[in-house]
Amino acid sequence: MTSDTPALRPDGFRDECGVVGVFGDTEAANLAYLGLHALQHRGQEGAGIASSDGKLIRAYRGRGLVGEVFGGAELASLLGHVAIGHVRYSTAGEGSLRNVQPFVVRYRDGQLGVAHNGNLVNAQILREELEDRGSIFATSSDTEVILHLVAGSGQGTFINRLVDGLMRVEGAYSLVLMTEDTMVAVRDPWGFRPLVLGQRGKSWVIASETCALGLIGAEYIREVEPGEMLIVDRDGVQSLFPFPRRPRRACVFEHIYFSRPDSTVFGRSVYDARIVLGRLLAEENPVEADVVIPVPDSGVPGALGYSQYSGIPYALGLIRSHYVGRTFIEPSQQIRDFGVKLKLSPVKSVIAGKRVLVVDDSLVRGTTLRKVVRMLRESGAAEVHLRITAPPTIGSCYYGVDTPTREELIATRMGVPEIGEFLGADSLTYLSINALRRAEGKDQGRFCEGCFTGEYPVDPHPDRLRRQMPLFVEGEKSSEV
Ligand code: SF4
Repeated sequence: MTSDTPALRPDGFRDECGVVGVFGDTEAANLAYLGLHALQHRGQEGAGIASSDGKLIRAYRGRGLVGEVFGGAELASLLGHVAIGHVRYSTAGEGSLRNVQPFVVRYRDGQLGVAHNGNLVNAQILREELEDRGSIFATSSDTEVILHLVAGSGQGTFINRLVDGLMRVEGAYSLVLMTEDTMVAVRDPWGFRPLVLGQRGKSWVIASETCALGLIGAEYIREVEPGEMLIVDRDGVQSLFPFPRRPRRACVFEHIYFSRPDSTVFGRSVYDARIVLGRLLAEENPVEADVVIPVPDSGVPGALGYSQYSGIPYALGLIRSHYVGRTFIEPSQQIRDFGVKLKLSPVKSVIAGKRVLVVDDSLVRGTTLRKVVRMLRESGAAEVHLRITAPPTIGSCYYGVDTPTREELIATRMGVPEIGEFLGADSLTYLSINALRRAEGKDQGRFCEGCFTGEYPVDPHPDRLRRQMPLFVEGEKSSEV
């Protein structure tokens, strides 16, 4: 989806969250703020920054876009040389202000702040266990479970408590944490969500994507490895691998759709990855057409790749308005497809009388593409062929992406020809799973493909087993009673 807003793609997968951390700069909060701007595509419901001057962690959080949440006064109040930040969608927990991160708590050893990208599949089980032992939760977010586990650990140091707590969680987490004078970055052993390390002069930067490093003039050093914990303090950066090793299962959708094309994610240029997907799509699914057009902005690299391979000229047949905010007026039904027309408008000179091949990066519910096809036909397209640079989406994501339920996914209800018919297209084809794997190159087999195959690397419902268990086991009272 890259830079598309949810307003433009209400029927698509939505991004998850973005995190940033800065250590060793007196402008840490300002740099975190800029980093969050670069990560805005990963979450638009809320934003927050916590900072520390070595003695006290202060935080400011709000609902809305980064630029709406923070003004000069708010940023000026965030003093210190350490800062972490977060932009969010509500992948777990409701979308209210109390769920906006970073969360900052005080426990027996001081203050602790956390910003999380991902989703813990066993959060509910752990939460019930913790509540049984007397924990009181302030939010409905899975991230708060981590704070309770750390605070309640019997280990001696903060790092040991953190490792102890994270040993108990399952699922996806790319985390940036802070105490008053330390920053810690952790990526789960499967490596579902991205996380990178950068350097800016003498300061260290952590971010979900490299586009955040670019904006603040930080140099990209490397990925935080799956299962790695980086501890950043005045002595520099220390790397630990404290968790049992797992096979890497990075989210393939980051390359297809979520990350910004100017980012390097999982060690690879997102733009280059999308060009390859477009080229493979053209190789697999040729069709006679006069022009290749993208659904902007997300379909652009795929359409370029398709055009390069097929030799069919590339053109911009749809123009996206960059100034669409929320609109509260809905004209009468006489203006059909008003919502899509507000965001996309056709270039008739490109479309009229042509066999148009449209490239998009995903097809989730199909409601927007249906309107796009109608718009192209009304603009005089002779034929409309749809090509998708991903396989059919047949499952939800349990690892930190806000997805429709399985039943809402069009590919679970219809076969490809029926979907094409529903969309009003002359033809529709998707990229095959084999081609997607070819596109992964040397990392083939090291990606999560759960929403395309239904095979999930980590059991998405670990509580299922427990629900099947008797209420009383070995004289112990079940927490479900
Ligand atoms: Fe990514 Fe899909 Fe796996 Fe979720 S299920 S992590 S969106 S590939």
